[in-house]
Amino acid sequence: MAEIFTGNFTQQLPLPEASIAAAEAVMRHGRLHRYNTAPGEVGEVARLEEEFAAWQGARYCLAVASGGAAITLALRAAGVGPGVPVLTNAFTLAPVPGAVAAVGGEPVFVGVTEGLVIDLEDLAAKIAETGARHLLLSHMRGHVCDMEALMALCGGAGIAVIEDCAHTMGARWNGVRSGRHGRVACFSTQTYKHMNSGEGGLLTTDDADLAARAVLMSGSYMLYDRHRAAPGPEAFEGLRLEMPNISSRMDNLRAAVLRPQLAGLDAACAAWTERYRVAEAGLRGVPGLTLVERPQHEAFVGSSIQVLLLDRPDAEIARVVAGCRARGVELKWFGAAEPEGFTSVYRHWRYAQAAPMPASDRVLRAILDMRLPLTFSLEDCALIARIIAEEARG
Ligand SMILES: *Cc1c(COP(=O)(O)O)cnc(C)c1O
Repeated sequence: MAEIFTGNFTQQLPLPEASIAAAEAVMRHGRLHRYNTAPGEVGEVARLEEEFAAWQGARYCLAVASGGAAITLALRAAGVGPGVPVLTNAFTLAPVPGAVAAVGGEPVFVGVTEGLVIDLEDLAAKIAETGARHLLLSHMRGHVCDMEALMALCGGAGIAVIEDCAHTMGARWNGVRSGRHGRVACFSTQTYKHMNSGEGGLLTTDDADLAARAVLMSGSYMLYDRHRAAPGPEAFEGLRLEMPNISSRMDNLRAAVLRPQLAGLDAACAAWTERYRVAEAGLRGVPGLTLVERPQHEAFVGSSIQVLLLDRPDAEIARVVAGCRARGVELKWFGAAEPEGFTSVYRHWRYAQAAPMPASDRVLRAILDMRLPLTFSLEDCALIARIIAEEARG
């Protein structure tokens, strides 16, 4: 009898009791808007920003309505406007080029390696070709590239790096937290990410001017002095009447459920990576199936795992995906002709010009991807790996 998996790939853990209690307190007092505070009260959003800045080791933090909003504000605060080219990953998710489009910028896609990170050779070529001054670097599915090499390349070319850390909250490169290399980092607290407030985003930076711009654009009106992880009033002086209000604040209810999760984040990250290592061990040595070997300098968070079926015919990959699905294992395939569920690739984003990238297409076509939610036990992860291994063997 073939084994079947019955778990749910989209089921996250329930929120901690402390989150539920904090949410209830906010609902009971009714002051959900971040600037609606009683005399002397510090709201939940201001406290979350202060705590996340400290955890991340960043000077400034702004909480917003979504990860996509964080990226959009970061791009605009970093000077991206209509017609400005923005280098970004070909292997990412739709909100990334979408954020570039939201500020009128023009995504320039950079290729992906078999290690599932940005191709630095292609990046150098596209910098030379386009003269772009901005890189929106998506640490897609938690894979972190050689950040010293990337920063050397970008620093030398005068490129501002905006990091999309939606999948690397809690990860490190060579001991440095993901998001601490570039000029600004953006995080998501949407349900499927490392902290869960349904929707939500965080932006961190050490750049006072960028932080002040982002705070004003998020919709602070003239209440920015209520922040506790924002620059001082001098940073706002010349900007307060210049920046448009693009309402995208976080509210106290979401911040209230996030603060207890932040306290447990390091433990959650370790639990994800433990699950990843079990799945990885079960997938090792399967003929025709390539694992992504994680670089020594990368301390990743294993909240998802990818395997590659390189150079196999589409029909064969589709058969593996269907075989796994029939046994309860849902794999997302980046080679599907049409976008499916949350999964799409650069070819599908028709609003952005993209020259074909054959080397990247070969990799994208091979990627099978799945989440490892913390509701899965280690035994679940071992079972999932056995099912994929059997189906891939055919
Ligand atoms: C989820 C996600 C985002 C955007 O986050 P939202 O909070 O959903 O707007 C950005 N980049 C990547 C890679 C993501 O997975």
